[in-house]
Amino acid sequence: MRIRSVLDEARQIELATEMVRLGARLQVLESETDLSRERLLRLYKEVQGKSPPKGMLPFSTDWFLTWQPSIHASLFLGGYRHLTGRCKMHRTEALVSAYRLYLEQVVAMELECKLSMTRAWILVRYVESDMLGTTPCVSCGGHFVTHTADLHQNFVCGLCNVPSRAGKKRPTELPLAA
Ligand SMILES: [Zn+2]
Repeated sequence: MRIRSVLDEARQIELATEMVRLGARLQVLESETDLSRERLLRLYKEVQGKSPPKGMLPFSTDWFLTWQPSIHASLFLGGYRHLTGRCKMHRTEALVSAYRLYLEQVVAMELECKLSMTRAWILVRYVESDMLGTTPCVSCGGHFVTHTADLHQNFVCGLCNVPSRAGKKRPTELPLAA
């Protein structure tokens, strides 16, 4: 996203602000906007009332494949693909909108939020670089995050095959069909 005009800059500030509100780390803002690091730092402090956390981002493809994170990541990704695909939304705007949508769904289903804004952004990067993709579950037909390198014949998702340690009730039906 190159800054082309005052309006464009205003839009980028708006997006960055929204991303900070949703909990994005500074690296996400630096990557998704062309605003300077100094401006983003000031923006972050103004919105969050504190300095951004330091340290590495949680880069790991495996995290998205563990039981609950995979369900949450798949839910988010379904919304993101819909917005960028059918709705032809710009990727950064789609990232923000899909994440908001994900939070709404999590609240509506009374689930705990597992996917942070930063993780959602990392997921999109992994999908764009073809490290992660989705595979339809043979049981429910929903599309779930999987490694693109693995073979996925007869793939059964984490909702249809809840690990025994997870116990208790099966989470409510999630709208994961593409
Ligand atoms: Zn399934």
